[in-house]
Order: sequence, then structure tokens, then C-alpha cells
Amino acid sequence: MKRVAILGSTGSIGTQSVEVCEKHGLRITALAAHSSVDMLEEQARKFKPECVALYNEEKYGELKSRLADTNIKVLCGMEGLCEIAAMEENDIVLNSVVGMVGLLPTLTAIEAGKDVALANKETLVAGGTLVTSLAREKGVMIYPVDSEHSAIFQCLQGNKREQLNKIILTASGGPFFGFTYEQLKNVTKAQALRHPNWDMGNKITIDSATLMNKGLEFIEAKWLFDLEPEQIEIVVHRQSVIHSAVEYKDYAVIAQLGVPDMKIPIQYSLLYPDRVECPTKPLSLTDYGTLTFAKPDLDTFKCLSAAIEAITRGGAYPCLVNSANEEAVRAFLNDEIRFIQIGEIVSSVLEKFPYSEIKSYEDVMSADRTARDYVRHIINN
Ligand code: MN
Repeated sequence: MKRVAILGSTGSIGTQSVEVCEKHGLRITALAAHSSVDMLEEQARKFKPECVALYNEEKYGELKSRLADTNIKVLCGMEGLCEIAAMEENDIVLNSVVGMVGLLPTLTAIEAGKDVALANKETLVAGGTLVTSLAREKGVMIYPVDSEHSAIFQCLQGNKREQLNKIILTASGGPFFGFTYEQLKNVTKAQALRHPNWDMGNKITIDSATLMNKGLEFIEAKWLFDLEPEQIEIVVHRQSVIHSAVEYKDYAVIAQLGVPDMKIPIQYSLLYPDRVECPTKPLSLTDYGTLTFAKPDLDTFKCLSAAIEAITRGGAYPCLVNSANEEAVRAFLNDEIRFIQIGEIVSSVLEKFPYSEIKSYEDVMSADRTARDYVRHIINN
């Protein structure tokens, strides 16, 4: 049985990953969370991993004293996440932390020769070139957990990669599908946090409302499947039943369908290539009746067009738009800016900064700081 370390174990993907591991008897070797001491303690007592880590260093002492009666090693900070990612006891590291904080643990896991089940899309957005070249060098697999990328990965099985024309990345369209730019000016935080199909953490829910999530997934797909931007078509599909599709040279299109439940892609990433019963509902197409498709509105949803432009230009641009978005979303959730400003801020990064290369982790961190400082400056002035 595979031995799994879960980073971000108390979040939406993390808790579902724990459930999948429990259901199939996978050994959980380590758990790491941002700051949820209560839930991490509960998970630690239940699954008895070798190691747990808390990213938030201020709460580390509390977790350590709560687990003092166990022999579980308690770590903290980025160092703790990376120590867990590289643990000898792991076969695979499931990374579901939020934001580009996930990049270094991913690189560390790959460096240590561990396969990675990747739910942290910012890892590939900010460090795609570093992550994919290191994975090739170390001969490790990156299994996508994101539902669209898992769908594409599934559609690629048993076919020849060089006979692929393009991929069709489906998008739910979020809560503001069909809105004009004018209408977007008045939307509230509560509306933005209400996603029609998926129940997710706050960051990704806002990203789904701005369509930045699809922009990040566009970039993620480029790196995961080694595609040109022209080979990725985004189609708005409101029901989130078709999780994505691929088109081959003969124009045969293969899609993967299922109920919108992340446990299916999580399970596939951990048990690949096996398909066994999943703790979810089966899909009933007749319950849906109609599936719809539409073009995305790239003029209204500026985050999406900015992300596509960023990966088309390459270099540090994807990292810059991602970090600007992380800062802008944080500011929006703190009621510092309006919804519409997220897209304005993210796309302004493309005009503000000249092209620069990403050759190292330090280059990523430097682009990250540049974008965050720029966004904080805009907001505070
Ligand atoms: Mn997705």
C-alpha cells in the first residue's frame, strides 16, 4: 500500500484526501496544515503519522504541547513542510496547500525522488519550468489532482501523446457568468463566495468568480501536458459534469465525466492506474438532461485574459500575475478593494513590468516579492 504525506490536510482537498486514504487503507505518513491546530491534532490522533507540521509558527507551540503524549514528531514553518515532503517514509506527496507557498515543498519532494499528487496549481503557475524540468531529471510523476487536469490525464491514457491536437479545458463560469463589466462593479463578497457547483476554500472560490482560477489552470495545463497556449481551448460548461476533454488528430474528442466531487480525481491521483469504488455518487446523465457550452468572456473577466497573456509571453509573467492575484484576493477578502479591482490589478502587472527570465527558485521569489510590493503599493495609495 502506498504511503502518503498530505500537505494542507485540513483544507477542502486535504480533508477529502484523508478520507480517500482512510477508505482505501493508504498509510498516512505525515500531515501538514497552515494553522488549524484543532483539526490537525484530531487528524494526528486518528491516523498516527510519523510527523505533523504547522506552517504558522506562532501556533506551533500549542500543537506541540497538545501532542506531547504521543510520539509524533511536530515541525513548523516552511522548513517543516519541506522536511515532511522529503521524508523517506513517503511514496507520494499530496500537495494541497493554498498559494505559491506550495512551490518549495513540491520542489523538495521531487528532489527527494517522491511522486507528487498536485492540487496546488500555483506550484506550476509560478515555477512551471523549474518543476517540470526537475521532475524529468528525477524521473518522478506529477499526478494532477485538479479535476480538469485529472480529466485530461485520464483522456490521455492509452493514446499517443504526439497524436494530440489540443485540449478542451472546461470552466463552470462561476457565480457571475453572463455578467457585464458594469454589473461586476457592484458584486459583493458574499456573492463572490457562493460557487454554483463546487464547495471549496475562500481563495479558490474567489478565483473561480474572477475566472483567475481558469487562467491558472490554463497555465497549469501548459506545463503538465507540455502544450502551446494555442492548443488549449477554454469552454464554459455550467454543469461541471464534463471535467475536460482532449482532441486527437482524427478529430475524435475524448472527455471525462462525473459528478462534481473532488474525491474522484484525488483517488485517481493516489491509486493510479487503479479504478476502485469511490466514496461519492455515481453520475446520472438523465438527472442533468441538458449540458451547455459557451465561449468565455475574455473582455469582462480580465484575470483570465491576463493569465493567458502571461503564459503566452512567458518568463516571469505567470508568476507576477499569480502573486498579484494572491495579494489582490487577500485584499478583497479583507474588504480593502472591490471585486472588479482584482482584474484591474492583475492585468496592470503586464503593462508595469518588463520581461524577465525564471532560471532559479530565487528568480521566482524575487518576481513574487516584486508583484506583491506593487499591489500593496496600489492598495495603500
Ligand atoms: Mn479545477
